[in-house]
Amino acid sequence: MHYDLIVIGSGPGGYVCAIRAAQLGMKVAVVEKDKTFGGTCLNVGCIPSKALLHASELFEESGHLFDKMGIKLGQPKLDLAAMMKFKDEGVDGNVKGVAFLFKKNKIDTFAGVGRIAGRSKVEVKGADGTSQVIEGKAVVIATGSDVARLRGVEIDEQRIVSSTGALVLDKVPQRLLVVGAGVIGLELGSVWRRLGSEVVVVEFLDRILPGLDSEVCRQFQRLLEKQGITFKLSSKVTGVEISGNKLKATVEPAAGGAAEAIDADVVLVSIGRVPFTEGLGLEEAGVKTDNKGRVTVDARYATNVPGIYAIGDAIAGPMLAHKAQDEGVAVAENLAGRSGHVNYEVIPNVVYTYPEVASVGKSEDELKQGGIAYKVGKFPFTANGRAKVNLQTEGFVKILADAKTDRVLGVHIVGADAGNMIAEAAVAMEFGAASEDIARTCHAHPTLTEAVKEAALAVDNRAIHM
Ligand SMILES: Cc1cc2nc3c(=O)[nH]c(=O)nc-3n(C[C@H](O)[C@H](O)[C@H](O)COP(=O)(O)OP(=O)(O)OC[C@H]3O[C@@H](n4cnc5c(N)ncnc54)[C@H](O)[C@@H]3O)c2cc1C
Repeated sequence: MHYDLIVIGSGPGGYVCAIRAAQLGMKVAVVEKDKTFGGTCLNVGCIPSKALLHASELFEESGHLFDKMGIKLGQPKLDLAAMMKFKDEGVDGNVKGVAFLFKKNKIDTFAGVGRIAGRSKVEVKGADGTSQVIEGKAVVIATGSDVARLRGVEIDEQRIVSSTGALVLDKVPQRLLVVGAGVIGLELGSVWRRLGSEVVVVEFLDRILPGLDSEVCRQFQRLLEKQGITFKLSSKVTGVEISGNKLKATVEPAAGGAAEAIDADVVLVSIGRVPFTEGLGLEEAGVKTDNKGRVTVDARYATNVPGIYAIGDAIAGPMLAHKAQDEGVAVAENLAGRSGHVNYEVIPNVVYTYPEVASVGKSEDELKQGGIAYKVGKFPFTANGRAKVNLQTEGFVKILADAKTDRVLGVHIVGADAGNMIAEAAVAMEFGAASEDIARTCHAHPTLTEAVKEAALAVDNRAIHM
């Protein structure tokens, strides 16, 4: 029961940290309270949501685009139970994959709630009430996050749901009210709109996807509106009443004023996530947290208590699986005496709707606020040969480069497959590329990625196809 490393939580942060540490020769234990490994991401986050986004996108395409391409199938019919089974099988394959990797890397696993029980000690309390104490030279807190609650609105996961409930609805709601126009609300709103729901999104701020480039968000909002999603910006939901079969949400202007009622069959509360550290015994262990409940760490992910580290959604920074994974690798490498590091300037962000929205680096708003002189190169997919032939012409690529040095500062893509395309920009930025470097790199034809090259050329007004 003596380990080099004990990881509490088996989400993307925890399981990747454990595997990397085992690769580096450490004796590793993972403590997980849920029935399956993989955390939020694999069980109720990234993976199930992307399965439903993929299936619902094909459902919609088969009803609209197939006909145009000469594929005559008739009106597609939805078998929601089968679609949910498809999603569950995808989740199952992924969580079993983590169990396999733990075995392969000789990582011991402990089922139960982990609590820091003094220096180097973690108590694991099983569901049957039994408890055991394991010891580790280092402990990594990778306990992730939980759904943020909205005051006055009780989530029952049946009709008033969080993202977790919205992934398992057994019938398509006639009307879905989404509270919050962040990534999760827009992704799940898109799923249910494609499957037949009338979707209304209420957002407190005057824009969708706060934090992303505002030009991108304006264009993206218009595209979503064209698909039939209705937005009520600068508005807040202050309560939801159950009246018979229907829900009645009270919606007020964010700045105050007369309230209105919006009827819905299901309300999805997606106003963000909060760090999850319940039951960990942080206070007793003396581990400091910040005013948002996030575990405070230094640049090496060390907390104020020697031997205790933290990563992923439980600490500050974007709540993204790949950020958690990279932190997991970094902390494992640091513990092994190497120099683990995460470059927070180059963390891609993707919204997996149709079209997708992907970005890395600075937004134009941030450059303006920071007083940084920049050049912009833009290229629309309407001018990209592959996008035209695929009927995927919505969106554009925007590259922001330093006015003096030409170094790429940010890349923003709205378009089909933007999530895959952004990887090129991330690699370029990691290597400190100039827009000239991207412009001079040969891109295969015909691909959507040529729009990235053209946007780079457009930084100096020399795009070819525009
Ligand atoms: C609907 C949805 C869609 C998302 N889509 C994406 C996406 O497309 N891309 C992306 O990058 N991110 C996405 N995310 C965010 C992503 O899921 C998180 O950023 C990521 O899971 C964080 O990883 P983590 O390892 O820090 O924590 P988590 O994945 O939350 O894992 C924490 C684990 O710790 C366990 N745990 C907690 N406390 C204890 C304890 N005391 N003892 C034992 N075990 C404990 C939990 O049971 C859990 O398994 C999505 C999230 C949601 C909700």
